Amino acid sequence: MAKYVLALDQGTTSSRSILFNHQGQIEATAQQEFEQIFPSPGLVEHNPEAIWDSQLATAQKVIRQSGADLSEIAAIGITNQRETIVLWDRDTGKPVSNAIVWQSRLTAGRCDQLKAEGYEKLFREKTGLVLDAYFSGSKIEYLLNEISGLRDQAKAGKILMGTIDTFLIWRLTGGKVHVTDPSNASRTLLYNIHTHEWDDELLDVFDIPRYMLPEVKSSSEVYGETTSELFGAPIKIAGIAGDQQAATFGQGCFESGSAKNTYGTGCFMLMNTGEQPVLSDAGLLTTIGWSINGKVTYCLEGSVFIAGAAIQWLRDGLQIIKTAPEVEALASQVEDSGDVFFIPAFVGLGAPYWNQDARGTLIGITRGSTKEHIARAVLESLAYQSCDVLHAMEQDSDIKLNSLKVDGGAAANSLLMQFQADMLDVPVQRPVVHETTALGAAYLAGLAVGFWQDQAEVTNNWALDAEYQPSMEASRRDHLYQRWQKAIERSKDWV
Ligand code: ADP
Repeated sequence: MAKYVLALDQGTTSSRSILFNHQGQIEATAQQEFEQIFPSPGLVEHNPEAIWDSQLATAQKVIRQSGADLSEIAAIGITNQRETIVLWDRDTGKPVSNAIVWQSRLTAGRCDQLKAEGYEKLFREKTGLVLDAYFSGSKIEYLLNEISGLRDQAKAGKILMGTIDTFLIWRLTGGKVHVTDPSNASRTLLYNIHTHEWDDELLDVFDIPRYMLPEVKSSSEVYGETTSELFGAPIKIAGIAGDQQAATFGQGCFESGSAKNTYGTGCFMLMNTGEQPVLSDAGLLTTIGWSINGKVTYCLEGSVFIAGAAIQWLRDGLQIIKTAPEVEALASQVEDSGDVFFIPAFVGLGAPYWNQDARGTLIGITRGSTKEHIARAVLESLAYQSCDVLHAMEQDSDIKLNSLKVDGGAAANSLLMQFQADMLDVPVQRPVVHETTALGAAYLAGLAVGFWQDQAEVTNNWALDAEYQPSMEASRRDHLYQRWQKAIERSKDWV
């Protein structure tokens, strides 16, 4: 009898595998970090073999350690860092280069050029995205241009492209299945979110052969099964969603107007807008949340590139903490940031500013400023950036949030969560299961194979861990937010 669903959560800095039970609780988990490759400032790559090896190793480990019988695992759901792309040889399965990671600014110049040529509106209307290096399209084009002979090989059908979900499924099925889902496809700049297909006009702009692209299936159905040798017996693969959409699903944001914010390497806020796409006037993205049984759910999304990564910078760059959680104790030693503000625009600013040339800014330092103030300013920057995004979202959707569901590594930080509730002036709710990304992928897979009957059953699994009530005076909130916005202006157009 099926007791579990296995979620593969291929994140930006680590691969995780988690076994969930019917209540949506974690039965076993395994995690492995892998190397971040920085060829030059602003560029970020991963070795696809390191992604595969770490993902497979954690999946095998979690099955072994849990003692679960393979027949007890109903299905596998996959969630992944989005926009990151891999190109590989169809026959050998060998990647043609490192994966170009979502964070990489490699193609910023090319995107500027396309904007200057007047392409922004076309992409925006068809894909719901902004023309930015963050998304996959220009990254694929770059590899096709840079690697000698690659475009010809791709045109001859020898090269396949995939976001990480696609690459993993290709490997898991022994090269039998080349698929993705709309949540991932809608992040490529190549997928039309209204007609639900790869768009020839957009493919032409980048000269990307359609043949390279995976088939777009729904987010919840059986795509294939793993080869027997990987785990000892085949397991059905039955759910796919990009990490942020998966987290939205895992948080049970099924109603139009419900929203979640994930505090990981970046910060991502998504609001479910129902069956109609809401196009943004405020620099947000319109994206597909998931598609199930022919019904497509859209979301508005605000992406902040650097969030937890700023805490990592305190650890690795400034070296004023040894581990990320230590930031809470350090920042708690001061009442406030002492008018120090930190803008973590390491790779430019995302929503709602979209300033590729902004850079990190630390401002307001006096003789009295200490590392505690700086730590606090860095921590608070995660909350301020989330405020920027939520305000834009409320403006676009005409919906006022009445609470925010949170998750991700930095959501464990109580000081940050309280400050977030104060700055947003709404309660912030953290569920017991923090691993909502993996949980969402598990739900999508489990729903496809009847392990869970319907979304209502999934909603019942959501349980509150902690709620943070806003307690800051409005005048102070307004003052702090004005200072933040002033600091943002100073960070723009530095490059
Ligand atoms: P990802 O999935 O993007 O790799 P995670 O959700 O695992 O990210 O979160 C890891 C991030 O959270 C890291 O960038 C780390 O710096 C940050 N982080 C982890 N714990 C804390 C904490 N207690 N306070 C603040 N930041 C934290």
